[in-house]
Amino acid sequence: MELLKIRTIALLFVFGLALTQCKPKSDSDEETLLLLAAAASKICVNNSFTGSTVVNATATLDTNTDCITGMTSSMSADLPAWIRNNFKCAVGSVSGSNYVFRSQNVPNNKSFYFGTSSPMYVALAGGQKSAGNNQIASQCLVYTIPSSPAAKSGALVGTQSGYASVGITVNGLAIFNNAAAPGDTLATEAQTFDTFNGHPQSSGVYHHHSQPLNVTNNNANLVGVLIDGFPVYGLHCDNGTAGTGDDNVPGTVGPALDANHGHTAATVLFPGGIYHYHFASDATAGINTLIGSSFHGTPGTVSN
Ligand SMILES: [Zn+2]
Ligand SMILES: [Zn+2]
Repeated sequence: MELLKIRTIALLFVFGLALTQCKPKSDSDEETLLLLAAAASKICVNNSFTGSTVVNATATLDTNTDCITGMTSSMSADLPAWIRNNFKCAVGSVSGSNYVFRSQNVPNNKSFYFGTSSPMYVALAGGQKSAGNNQIASQCLVYTIPSSPAAKSGALVGTQSGYASVGITVNGLAIFNNAAAPGDTLATEAQTFDTFNGHPQSSGVYHHHSQPLNVTNNNANLVGVLIDGFPVYGLHCDNGTAGTGDDNVPGTVGPALDANHGHTAATVLFPGGIYHYHFASDATAGINTLIGSSFHGTPGTVSN
């Protein structure tokens, strides 16, 4: 038992170190994953919400839920329609003035990072390289996100402030900020993205900085919600119409984007208009990203 405690403490320490890093790292990953496996059922209270812990070697896609078999995918009836009808592969609920999402954070797309023994494995695209020995691992992410987001007055909160994740995609996956590990840029790290534009960091947290290709590919689809409660969309704005013929980049549809990748415009899901983010060019990253350096609103909390 004492050994387990020490392991748990070590694991928490590893998590603490790993929060903001997604730089490929290979030296102790295997041990980290073993610790994860040992500790997952001990300290992760998520399982009772999010279903059986996914094991890469046996992971398959459930064709009914379009999520990994065994993962719970449920959105409670009191959530607004824009969440209820679009989010899956996570467990969403309302708690007071917040939305709560719990997620194992395992992608419902094939990935190099499931490992070659997994039915969900697919090779990297030509020219891409592995993020060290990093592999996807089931997580215990809990997001508490304000349900009535508002523009923050005064100094904005940075997206590079040590958050375990800065948002959740409609398919239950972590959104990471526009920064790479120190000494690196995302433009360089993009070489390690899998065929759906995601990759795991050193403790197995699969995430997207760029557009998740399982959700959007240079179109106006809803991508997810950031932890300040504002939605994030793909490259295009939908002009408030279901037809795609009039979709285009912000500035052509709606106002030009601010420094935080956002603008206020009507969308199909928000006919009255709402501030929302877009997948857009980011000077810090050197590539298009889902979020800039600051939140427009006041961020909620994320734990893992
Ligand atoms: Zn990353
Ligand atoms: Zn827009």
